[in-house]
Amino acid sequence: MRNRYYDPEIETASKDALRKLQEKKFKAIVRHTWKHSPFYRKKFEEANLTPDRIRSLEDISKLPFVTKEDLRKDQEAHPPWGDILAVKPEECQRIHLTSGTTGKSLKILDTTADWSRFCHIYARNLYAYGIRKTDMVMPAFSFGPWIGFWAGYYACQEIGCLLFASGGMKTEQRIDALLTYPITVLGCTPSYAIHMAEVAGKSGIEFSRRAKIRISWHTGEAGAAIPTVKKKIEEAYGCKCFDFLGSTEIGPWGFNCEFQSGLTHVNEDWAYAEVLDLETDQPVGPGGRGELVLTNLERKANPFLRYRSRDIVQVADRKCPCGRTLFALEGSVLGRLDDMKKVRGIIVYPSKIEEIVRGFKEVDEFQVVFKRVRELDEVFIRIDPMPELDRGSYVFFQERLEKALQIGLGIRTFIEILERGALPRWDHKAKRIVDERKDVPF
Ligand SMILES: [Zn+2]
Repeated sequence: MRNRYYDPEIETASKDALRKLQEKKFKAIVRHTWKHSPFYRKKFEEANLTPDRIRSLEDISKLPFVTKEDLRKDQEAHPPWGDILAVKPEECQRIHLTSGTTGKSLKILDTTADWSRFCHIYARNLYAYGIRKTDMVMPAFSFGPWIGFWAGYYACQEIGCLLFASGGMKTEQRIDALLTYPITVLGCTPSYAIHMAEVAGKSGIEFSRRAKIRISWHTGEAGAAIPTVKKKIEEAYGCKCFDFLGSTEIGPWGFNCEFQSGLTHVNEDWAYAEVLDLETDQPVGPGGRGELVLTNLERKANPFLRYRSRDIVQVADRKCPCGRTLFALEGSVLGRLDDMKKVRGIIVYPSKIEEIVRGFKEVDEFQVVFKRVRELDEVFIRIDPMPELDRGSYVFFQERLEKALQIGLGIRTFIEILERGALPRWDHKAKRIVDERKDVPF
């Protein structure tokens, strides 16, 4: 019990004490942005606001929202860092790019102090999974400009773990390392965890028997929060699998704990969370769903006040047995506003499709294609099958999957079974969703 929390004074703080701390940090970050960020100064002036009108956290609703699009436009107009930058560039120590595919990635900078706190909060999350200094950790990550597991690496260092950096290594070399060294923790995208287990499986290697992994943590994609994906990883590695909640813009804002109670704890001293109704933008109460809007209370270089995450979440109305008093969400991110698809008037979340498809062990990889066929929107699910699935069983498998999708989504889908290996594998952000419709509803 004594060793359960990394920052017990924060993780078990009273609501009042936490509120006081948040308020102090909130007012300080508002003053900082007003003074040093031309981007925010303009936004404040447009809203007819000055920092002295922000007296408590209640006043957060007076602040304008910030979107990814705002930041993109700002960095285009004021290259390369944008007017948002609220410190001198020479005070910055780290730069990370968001994983845009068009060369228009956002650039997010951190000062030494920003980055140090970022890694500390990350360490709190890892500690909550049960990672300790006695662990040996492999972040299976390229260590490029994407933030990914960079902070995870330094967080493990802060905890005191033994670190095995595997950037630049091939999958076969990583597999060999997992069999050679007493590596107990693996950090990577969920797609890559599945891919690596599949490659190992081709050589008859079962990690669950031959490696020592006891904890895996995943970010970059929603996968680890999808029960069937989580189960697949846990079975392949014989470990407990955790979803890491964070973004380049806001940092590590949430975590599930070792109790795996289905709740996400929010690092309230680092990020203030609002859950706002999708239509009215008013806060929802316990059990309510809405868009997660986050204010980072600490980062000075690229401050984010009321940042629209586009993530749909639900406010928890129960407590976690771990005893943490932090604000919590029920489940993880339930869906992304940007990913929502409308098919013949019905809203479809690609994450739901993944949950259903991954429930079938016959599936190795898959792709979802939204198409318009004779004026009607249709969903095609292309399956790259496991080698064990013989052709004689295709029709039976296809019927079962079609039925499960019909029940789970409430719409008809078409299944297409491809040749083995026909679909790409992903080690970064998987792009399994293709929308070929010219004008997309919404
Ligand atoms: Zn908990």
